[in-house]
Amino acid sequence: MRAIRRFTVRPVLPEALLPLGELAGNLRWSWHPPTQDLFASIDQQLWTRSRQDPTRMLGLVPTARLEELAEDADFRARLEAVHADLRDYLENPRWFQGLPEGAPRGIAYFSPEFGITAALPQYSGGLGILAGDHLKSASDLGVPIIGVGLLYRHGYFKQSLSREGWQQERYPVLDPDELPISVLREADGSLAKVTVGMPEGQTATARVWVANVGRVPLLLLDTDVEENNEVLRDITDRLYGGQTEHRLRQEMLLGIGGVRAIRTFTRLTDRPAPEVFHTNEGHAGFLGLERIRELTEEQGLEFDAALEVSRAGTVFTTHTPVPAGIDRFPRELVAQYFGGDNAQPGVPVERILALGAESYEGGDPGVFNMAVMGFRLSQRANGVSQLHGHVSRGMFGGLWPAFDESERPIGSITNGVHAPTWVAREIFDLAREMGVDPDSSPQADSPERVFEVADQVPGKRVWEIKRILRERLVLDARRRLKESWLERGASSAELKWVDSALDPDVLTIGFARRVPSYKRLTLMLRDPARLKALLLDPERPIQLLIAGKAHPADDGGKRLINEIVRFADDPEVRHRIVFMPNYDIAMAQPLYPGCDVWLNNPLRPYEACGTSGMKAALNGGLNLSILDGWWDEWYDGNNGWAIPSADGVEDPDRRDDLESAALYDLIENDVAPRFYDHDADGVPQRWLEMVRHTLRSLGPKVLADRMVRDYVTTLYQPATESARTLNDDYKGALELAAWKDRVRKAWPGVRVDHVDSSGIGDAPEVGAVMKVQAFVTLAGLSPDDVDVQVLHGRVGESDTLRDLTVSPLQLAESYEADRHRYDGEVRLSTSGAFGYTLRVVPRNSHLASVAELGLVTLPS
Ligand SMILES: *Cc1c(COP(=O)(O)O)cnc(C)c1O
Repeated sequence: MRAIRRFTVRPVLPEALLPLGELAGNLRWSWHPPTQDLFASIDQQLWTRSRQDPTRMLGLVPTARLEELAEDADFRARLEAVHADLRDYLENPRWFQGLPEGAPRGIAYFSPEFGITAALPQYSGGLGILAGDHLKSASDLGVPIIGVGLLYRHGYFKQSLSREGWQQERYPVLDPDELPISVLREADGSLAKVTVGMPEGQTATARVWVANVGRVPLLLLDTDVEENNEVLRDITDRLYGGQTEHRLRQEMLLGIGGVRAIRTFTRLTDRPAPEVFHTNEGHAGFLGLERIRELTEEQGLEFDAALEVSRAGTVFTTHTPVPAGIDRFPRELVAQYFGGDNAQPGVPVERILALGAESYEGGDPGVFNMAVMGFRLSQRANGVSQLHGHVSRGMFGGLWPAFDESERPIGSITNGVHAPTWVAREIFDLAREMGVDPDSSPQADSPERVFEVADQVPGKRVWEIKRILRERLVLDARRRLKESWLERGASSAELKWVDSALDPDVLTIGFARRVPSYKRLTLMLRDPARLKALLLDPERPIQLLIAGKAHPADDGGKRLINEIVRFADDPEVRHRIVFMPNYDIAMAQPLYPGCDVWLNNPLRPYEACGTSGMKAALNGGLNLSILDGWWDEWYDGNNGWAIPSADGVEDPDRRDDLESAALYDLIENDVAPRFYDHDADGVPQRWLEMVRHTLRSLGPKVLADRMVRDYVTTLYQPATESARTLNDDYKGALELAAWKDRVRKAWPGVRVDHVDSSGIGDAPEVGAVMKVQAFVTLAGLSPDDVDVQVLHGRVGESDTLRDLTVSPLQLAESYEADRHRYDGEVRLSTSGAFGYTLRVVPRNSHLASVAELGLVTLPS
């Protein structure tokens, strides 16, 4: 029989156990083993049944058991200790509180997905996990961030396999009342709501859920409310589901509704308004339009001045080097959604369209590009690894065509991972055995100390722990394999073999990721016979654990999964290669620590950063990867293996042949021999040398704490300073907007009339000093409005300058008719072909980059 209505009855905790509610209601439990142990000790079976989710579990514990615990002095003492620890974590100063004056009072962090714990399935892959790790490390460091996202009624899909091995998708309904979140209410107890205008006079209304991520509140907007019609309710139905228009509605809700949710939340909780707005990928970019609207309506600013204020405090992180992965909308659709009835007086639709226009060579005049708008609405932008920064400066170069790649205003901060979430507790226990404290409290030892002790732990101990972790993974994989086969229609009797599938003593290689084509899930199948031989090697076998979801609309990706599954179904190899359906955080947590080697073979340079290999490294796993993303930056020859990538080879088949052959060779000749080379005690010393080196060299670098500190010091703090100088009475913003307007109008008349160099003779030597003199016409601009610079460096083919150095010239004399002479010197510091040129660029202390206006004048 079906219920006609369902609702969730929340448990009533006895007075003495009230702190349990607070512990369950703060997601810090998801990275704090003592809190998890406390919940597990209430009832081990229910803990497992609730999939280690305290909120769900509290709903299942019988009242009698709760009453018993309320009388149990030992339990109460443990509860008190864990609760006191949480209060201490939430209330006491941390890293950020020790920063000098001038740090931002608040930061808003927008993302379309957040992967925090399996108990809050609001993520699809790397972007969401990164956002979750960002919030967690911000919390550990005391950074005053507020997260903003959407609450999707179905989250992302759950993956299973059909009998024939095809991906199946399910979208179970998530009941918010069963999730570890609470709804935001006004002081009078009514639901807090935000609204966002839609075309044809419609208004989308959303309630706001709050998840507590340690010290960080995460606001999640949800349109599943009575006021909305069917279409509006469905805005938050699925993550990355639906067609173009649906996605546009989602992004309007996230960007515009998100800013409104922040305003409501800070009003109700008396928190300071954020000074910095950070958009994690372009999807939340409309937040800049909403801030411009606020400033025009509430402060009476004109669009241009409001734009300056808003962009000074906005940070944009771009995540994809795959052009097809950039978020774009038809221009007319954006015009329809932001114009007509829904137009805002201070934010004309033409201005909005101009912000997203691909108005550069090769751009498509019919589209509205969210990444391009992201760059125009934020004064500071970054990619997520050094290589990705470089690729992004190339990919978006059209926005600053006259500038050298190195000067385009896109920096990079390499991603990191939240160690307390991803490191097995046994690994941290090893550090404790060696006398260091890897806790995330400010009193804990530094990560350098924690990872340095890797050198002191006896090899035998490390090896014992790795075996425990490998075995745990093997058991988890068998359970998943059995479940999957039962779902595929097999009977238990046919599945005896599963109990001995995989082996806790065999070299274990992990490969799990989403399945877009550039990640090349099936590269390992390029030569099936060779793979089979590696799996079945009588002396040095390997075993492979594979997982990954294909986007529901990506049939190509589903075909790749099917290929892998069919290969792994073969009775000859099925005990050595397993595809585990439904890759998610719950699977990932035992997967990384249990693997000896983490494999990654993307098509370079399409992996912007990648983070799964970092999680493996923190657990003593060795990376075996194409030199892409973070691995390109931190591979040092001894902390794993680089699969040579055939970068220049155009034919993709041939490239795959070359790279897969290199992969097989590495496994056969380097990886497996080292793993199985045991000493008399059965310990592979040479392997462990690499493990130790990995922990020591990568440990401190791959941490999300390092990443968040980098964001604070190199982006959030400078953005705060910029925003404050413009915000003060908005005088700075008005001046800056007027100045930009004046400079843009005058610029076509700016000229370099003449350049002279002298002082180095015919045969200059290293150390010689060249004098440079330039005459320029400034077309009504003042010499204070510009910089005149010599660009010099080595010259390559067709006289292109490389390894540029920029040296300023000084104003020497001004003449009539706007002509000026500039003088300066350049020391020739290297031998070989040398060249120079001159340029005039706008100068203003409010600019964060010389390329910001895209204006430059070179000698004609
Ligand atoms: C870390 C992680 C990812 C991202 O891994 P990449 O290396 O960026 O592909 C995706 N899904 C889950 C569940 C993860 O834990």
